[in-house]
Amino acid sequence: MTRAERYADVALPLPIPEPYTYRIADTLGDRVTPGARVVVPVRSREVIGVVVRVDVAEPEGRVELKSILGTPDAEPALTSELLEVATWMAGYYAAPIGLALKAVLPGGMWGASKVMLRVVDSSRAPGGFAAELLRWVEGKGGEASVSAASKKFRKPVWDAADRLARVGAAELRVEPPKVGVRPQTERVLVLAREQPTLVERQTLFKGRPRQRQLYEALEELGGSAPVPHLKERLGFSDGVIKALMGHGLSKVEEVETLRDPFAGQAGVPPPPEPTDAQVDAISRLEALSPGEGALLFGVTGSGKTLVYLEVIRRALERGRGAIVLVPEIGLTPQTVSRVRGVFGDRVAVLHSGLSEGERADAWRALRHGDRMVAVGARSAVFAPVKDLGVIVIDEEHEATYKNGETPRYDARQVATVRARLEGARLIYGSATPSLDTAARLGKDLIRLSLPDRVGMRPMPEVKLIDLKHEPLVSEARPIPWSEELDRAVVQTLERREQAMLLLNRRGFASFLICPECGEVWMCGRCSISLTVHTAPSTLRCHYCGREEPIPSECPQCGHAVHRMRGIGTQQLERMVTERFPKARLARMDLDTTSTKWSHHKILGAVERGEVDILLGTQMIAKGLDFPNVTLVGVVDADTALYLPDFRSAERTFQLLAQVAGRTGRGPKGGRVLVQTRRPDHHALRYTVDHDVEGFLAEELETRKSPPYPPEVALANVLVSGTNDVAVGREAARVADWSAALVEQQDLPVTVLGPAPAPLAKIKDRWRWHVVWKGDSQAIGRVVRYAAERLAGKGGVRVVIDRDPASLL
Ligand code: ADP
Ligand code: ZN
Repeated sequence: MTRAERYADVALPLPIPEPYTYRIADTLGDRVTPGARVVVPVRSREVIGVVVRVDVAEPEGRVELKSILGTPDAEPALTSELLEVATWMAGYYAAPIGLALKAVLPGGMWGASKVMLRVVDSSRAPGGFAAELLRWVEGKGGEASVSAASKKFRKPVWDAADRLARVGAAELRVEPPKVGVRPQTERVLVLAREQPTLVERQTLFKGRPRQRQLYEALEELGGSAPVPHLKERLGFSDGVIKALMGHGLSKVEEVETLRDPFAGQAGVPPPPEPTDAQVDAISRLEALSPGEGALLFGVTGSGKTLVYLEVIRRALERGRGAIVLVPEIGLTPQTVSRVRGVFGDRVAVLHSGLSEGERADAWRALRHGDRMVAVGARSAVFAPVKDLGVIVIDEEHEATYKNGETPRYDARQVATVRARLEGARLIYGSATPSLDTAARLGKDLIRLSLPDRVGMRPMPEVKLIDLKHEPLVSEARPIPWSEELDRAVVQTLERREQAMLLLNRRGFASFLICPECGEVWMCGRCSISLTVHTAPSTLRCHYCGREEPIPSECPQCGHAVHRMRGIGTQQLERMVTERFPKARLARMDLDTTSTKWSHHKILGAVERGEVDILLGTQMIAKGLDFPNVTLVGVVDADTALYLPDFRSAERTFQLLAQVAGRTGRGPKGGRVLVQTRRPDHHALRYTVDHDVEGFLAEELETRKSPPYPPEVALANVLVSGTNDVAVGREAARVADWSAALVEQQDLPVTVLGPAPAPLAKIKDRWRWHVVWKGDSQAIGRVVRYAAERLAGKGGVRVVIDRDPASLL
């Protein structure tokens, strides 16, 4: 009797639409199961893939099917639930299964990784070639890669290696490919001498403007900055850096790079007794059936974190694990340390600073239940937590939960699917829920409120200042700076309290305009205006990073150029320095924080009271809890109001409500002054009374006609390429094709476009888009058909983004 051959589909971390089919050798049969890692031959190489399905039909019309070579793990790397999440993701977002799995299983754990054979107990070795192999490995110091052994013995050794592993004589271990050792130290340029006075500065730097700029940039960055940051990001040359050192004004130091800022951190002390409102929320969360979800709608400062922690603590008591998602780990150190403060080393913090090896270690620790709580940004939704009991998504309204590349998943949606599969409770938390989540209330989410701040602290008073009518401080120009905000800052400083100033635009001025002919300097590659920066002084594109010198005259009409429109954080900083010379300032935006852990340093200084005024972009609006901040000033609330995107009002409201929430968190109270030219706009009006419900209701109305989410579902098809004509033509083809499909199948979907995207060009690629609007299931069908047929060709790329975060 001949046994039937068995076959398995194996995915590789590559953008290929379908998995490959391999033969399953009899000897491996029991270990080739869905979710298991397997070693397979691909052309002349051996790579690690993941089994997606077993016992599939033998593919037709192929010559010779190759066999799976080996199985490194005794137990499948992926649980059936995680495999199902990946499969769902591949279907819903129309992504290749290999890329969906790559989002789930860290890249260092499969693909080009190496399988190592390590001796465990040589007395258990069977005879024959297996024993010979084991002796050779022992000779190599007890560990060697399987592929090195194949080379040495000039034949495949997988069979023997598998046998050794099964009898416990050796073990197989997957090691990430060597990507070069990361430097353990970095070179930092440090200010060496007392800051010279303004007069000293003028003589010292006479005829050396670049050195002065470097000196001042270092000052701005808190007295030191990594040399690569100064060179690559700020554009200072080696020559300028050396010259400044030559004057004895600065020196280079080797500083150990901080690999894991959370590793040694003790965490804050355990939280106090919950309030009545918290107790109520906790018990209602406990009463959720497994797989059910809730929105914890709690005003800023209402103590949501304690609720999460208590629900997680109870889950752990029952032996179940938890995932806590935060928008961005660098910006939410307080949440992370609270979780660590309570659960200590049962927590794995997943952050972008981990190496492939460290990431794989954290993954294994969670998979084996050595750690039970995973904390991280978006991708931590895939953490292989054992017996997952709770998923928390803090600040659920944040745009960072949507992935920007294939698979373009939304962690909030993935969490919903995963919670159902694993029977976990799902908790969304926010003071300003997204419209999408609010629309789910009463459907698959219940609503829990924490209506008051802890200790019945009042919400801060919010006042709108109409820039068109209120008196402004003329010396502050071009910064719009009302007398009222000015007085408020003075009073705050006099009382030795802290202030935050928000200006959601980095750089010095938003764009340069010729006063004579109105010419605006644009990026030739991205069709957006270039931003003026002062340290160093350049025009910079915020999409592609391109830089140009600031011109002295207009190329169109020859008029001298000096007027700048719009303002940025650097310009605000200079104005504030001049007006409040005694105040200690810190600035937080992408330019001051592009080095890895600089947020920590800046926030630490604010927490210790070493900073009087913190100014910055939306970064300062996130989850910070500093009781001594009693004033928040929003310098220009209108910066994002007119972006060509249907979420611009929602984003503006969220930002204002969040930044307002940074004050009044201590016994001294606090207030918020919002400067705007549109006090009548609903995104501003509702901030005054902290009326989130009112805003949601009115904004929901505006999404009805023309319809936008959550009223309808959307998919955005982005067509891009370097040839404008070819891109336009392909976009038209996409539009025609989808219109025909919709008509033929009579689907409730509207096709919009083709049109150039609002950001018509990024990094030399022209962008056009087609938008599908309609019923979500019907959109899903169009997306799946399209994924198979709209590949794009001849250098033109077609990307389908289902449930897009924006249409820019
Ligand atoms: P949210 O995330 O809702 O904005 P937090 O969880 O940051 O609010 O809590 C706000 C502040 O209140 C924190 O300083 C926290 O330690 C404190 N807090 C929370 N719950 C309690 C409580 N039950 N008793 C006393 N203080 C509390
Ligand atoms: Zn550009």
